[in-house]
Amino acid sequence: MIRLAIQSKGRLNEESVKLLKDSGIDVDDTKRKFIGKASDFPLELLYLRDDDIPGVVCDGAADLGIVGFNEIAESGADVVVIRKLGFGKCRISLAVPKEVDYPGLSWFQGRSIATSYPSVLKKFLSEQGISAQIREIKGSVEIAPTAGIADAIFDIVSSGGTLVSNGLREVEVVLESEAVLIGRKDAESGKQKLIDSILFRFDAVRESRGKKYILMNIPSDKLEDAMRLLPSMRSPTVMPLALDGWCSIHSVVDDSDLWHTVESLKQIGAEGILILNLDKVID
Ligand code: ATP
Ligand code: MG
Repeated sequence: MIRLAIQSKGRLNEESVKLLKDSGIDVDDTKRKFIGKASDFPLELLYLRDDDIPGVVCDGAADLGIVGFNEIAESGADVVVIRKLGFGKCRISLAVPKEVDYPGLSWFQGRSIATSYPSVLKKFLSEQGISAQIREIKGSVEIAPTAGIADAIFDIVSSGGTLVSNGLREVEVVLESEAVLIGRKDAESGKQKLIDSILFRFDAVRESRGKKYILMNIPSDKLEDAMRLLPSMRSPTVMPLALDGWCSIHSVVDDSDLWHTVESLKQIGAEGILILNLDKVID
């Protein structure tokens, strides 16, 4: 049995549970208990505040955790990042009131900065040789300049909308973050097999995201042109059709290239193009 700590509610909860479910690990997320059990995998789930996850993994109360990289950086917990998970993307940035004529980092010299990430900020300022006052506040950091609590803020930004609506402007990105799977350096050998099995499933799910399975019919004399348009995992699968002079091609395409590829394929004579969702990809 292994234990995985995930956020009990908040921005990472839904995606964490979805990753488990897509990995065939059924968790009952409706009861909001502190501890839950997967019905079909030897896994216990700890539902925690995200701030507590790095420490709990470091201490050994959980074997694995899913948490924002920003929380690892702030806690300084001695854990290893096993995988980046591709969701919960954000950055921690310095922002100043929009009317400030910002000359560069020297602006912060002698000024005060409100943040919930004092350790990350302290480290950054000392690396940059800036001496500023750090005002730690737990929430609503973005209102600090208007409220006269600090001259600037150091906070999480994703779209930037919150900054704009509070009359602030992002001036320095200090840390890029996303949700990560964390563990300990020296997992107990008995548990490593289960951890590897979870990783195998997570990787298969992650690998399928952002990709589509595409199949179509194409005149055989256009096959080479079509192959050039279709980068695939190894190379596209080609099968003859019963109709002479035609074949069928199957391939995997990134979502970002999908429409461009489909248009180009149509132009060279592809017909009956089918685009399907991919469930899992195992390399
Ligand atoms: P908890 O109650 O678990 O302590 P919280 O309020 O500290 O929750 P959330 O706001 O749920 O945290 O955010 C969890 C994580 O989501 C952040 O630590 C960060 O990694 C990520 N995240 C992504 N985008 C944003 C955003 N726009 N604002 C805040 N966090 C974000
Ligand atoms: Mg928190």
